[in-house]
Amino acid sequence: MTTTHDTQAPAADAPRDPSEQLPRFREAVSGLVNYRPQKPALSPEGRSYPLAANETPFGTLPKVAEAIAEAAAGINRYPDNGGQALVAEIAERFGLDPEGLMLGCGSVGVAQQLITAVAGPGDEVLYAWPSFEAYPILTRLAGATSVQVELREGVHDLTAMADRVTDRTRLVFVCNPNNPTGTVVGRTELEEFLDRVPAGCLVVLDEAYYEYVRDTGTPDGLSLLPGRPGLVVLRTFSKAYGLAGLRIGYAAGDPRVIGTLRKAYLPYSAGSVAQAAAVAALRSGGEVRRRTDVITAERTRVTDALRKLGWRVPESEANFLWLPLGERAAAFGAHCASAGISVRAVPGTGVRVTLGLPADNDAFLAAATAFPPS
Ligand code: PMP
Repeated sequence: MTTTHDTQAPAADAPRDPSEQLPRFREAVSGLVNYRPQKPALSPEGRSYPLAANETPFGTLPKVAEAIAEAAAGINRYPDNGGQALVAEIAERFGLDPEGLMLGCGSVGVAQQLITAVAGPGDEVLYAWPSFEAYPILTRLAGATSVQVELREGVHDLTAMADRVTDRTRLVFVCNPNNPTGTVVGRTELEEFLDRVPAGCLVVLDEAYYEYVRDTGTPDGLSLLPGRPGLVVLRTFSKAYGLAGLRIGYAAGDPRVIGTLRKAYLPYSAGSVAQAAAVAALRSGGEVRRRTDVITAERTRVTDALRKLGWRVPESEANFLWLPLGERAAAFGAHCASAGISVRAVPGTGVRVTLGLPADNDAFLAAATAFPPS
């Protein structure tokens, strides 16, 4: 179990030089691996294809650029801490109660607020694995314990997850579509799962890639909210809406639950420029839909091409594909990098590749074709 505080006495041989005496950190923090910036891959011809971070390849939406310019004039002022204009826009667009909405610094910021609000030392946070890499980090930072349930054939095993819920489980993440596999769980199985989770445990349905879903059997998490106070849906403006650099996301849920969760809000963490940009992004819904249509068409084309080459590719409903290459993952990642293509390689497991514009994807397919088959 992860402990919150390092209670050891200072070591007898602690350095006497005051400049050598560092503060004592919680083990939860000192035990984490530091972030290491990755250089973008560059081909011998100087080309670079950023397919590692699940971003949209499209530039800033025109209305968003205008809103940013306007909001920039007022950044000497603090943002609206309640984010009322954005909250009202989300509520109206999706037919939600504004009291059931909470903003945050990206959906990862919101996820941290959710964990902080419900879990601490001795509590468990349950999620599938592999899934979004921030879940174990945020759990650890809260001093809580991660319980990971392996995916079954690349898909959430909701039955096994429900079996692992104990009276110590405070939060369950369900990532739909799942990062890194792109796979989805359907409405019926998700509803059955939600019915099995005991009251008192928060279920967070992370729908960061919702706008890329075209499978009609995959539920819109917002439609599952009525009558389920234990469910919260996470959404972000970082992916389809193209605001990854601005850091804004939100949670939707029962107003009574969100009302309490909001107490864990890091003041002013949803900035004013980000809020204004998000309103404009929501008002650009038609263009967002056209852009996601391009990516989902590319998803079909690239999946088919890879399968024709003999690659195993799970069905993705997100803007990326997962290649379960196992021991060959690192070699394929390096092979892509040498062609200027940045992908996310998880050594020993697989490679996640973001779908870009057709020319980016062609470059990736050329690299995949040239990779020696196993
Ligand atoms: N959830 C999932 C599943 C993700 O993949 C990501 C981004 N990689 C996030 C949440 C966080 O996105 P953001 O903080 O930019 O909203």
